[in-house]
Amino acid sequence: MDEGESAEEHPFYTHAVKYWSEIPPTVDGMLGGFGFVSNTDIQGSKAFLKNLFKLKDAPGTGRAIDCGAGIGRITKHLLLQFFDKVDLVEQNPKFLEEAKTFIGPNKKVENYFSTGLQHFRPPENTYDVIWCQWVLGHLTDYHFVEFFRACSEGLKPNGVIVVKENLTSSDKVEIDEQDSSVTRPIGVLKSLFEQAGLTSIREAKQNNFPPGLYQVRMFALRPAPANIL
Ligand code: SAH
Repeated sequence: MDEGESAEEHPFYTHAVKYWSEIPPTVDGMLGGFGFVSNTDIQGSKAFLKNLFKLKDAPGTGRAIDCGAGIGRITKHLLLQFFDKVDLVEQNPKFLEEAKTFIGPNKKVENYFSTGLQHFRPPENTYDVIWCQWVLGHLTDYHFVEFFRACSEGLKPNGVIVVKENLTSSDKVEIDEQDSSVTRPIGVLKSLFEQAGLTSIREAKQNNFPPGLYQVRMFALRPAPANIL
């Protein structure tokens, strides 16, 4: 989990690429067979985002990016309702292609970046909100920290990074060998945020998910004051 950059893609990533290449480009596919939680998920995200817009130093509504966007479920149902422009970044080209149909013609959607987050560096000073949901378990700790350091540079003034992820109920990182991902406990996640120079300004639990799923939490993150030059 702490591998650095190397020329060869680590099996952790190549296995995930293979897993996702066999998944249908549908909402149910994106949510591992739990497509029926999508509405509840979007409602929870909407409430969280609306609260961020009430901050005294609220993020702007110019441009957001959907990281690990899949077919654009979050872009379509959430981000396009709040932002003038939305970009997507996703490792699976087939999902990105489907996103164009799934979202439908929309001039607000501008860039489809077809790459893994471990290689992606957002353009500087560009995004009001960087939304990362149900994808960070696919990054090693090393790339997680590198990615978020780069995201800090990608934020506009008052911008925020939103993370919405599963959390383990134990204090152990759980490994899913089938899709080649990890689920982290809250302590590990927070320690990675800190290592990336981020501080959490808002946090909320996603309510009304069916029992038996991991707990899901949302975090709004900003560069920690010492990291703002
Ligand atoms: N965030 C979307 C999709 C979740 S499914 C939603 O909530 O609807 C997880 C997505 O992450 C898949 O589309 C998968 O292809 C993508 N993914 C997996 N590993 C990735 C990586 N290293 N970089 C970018 N995207 C990745």
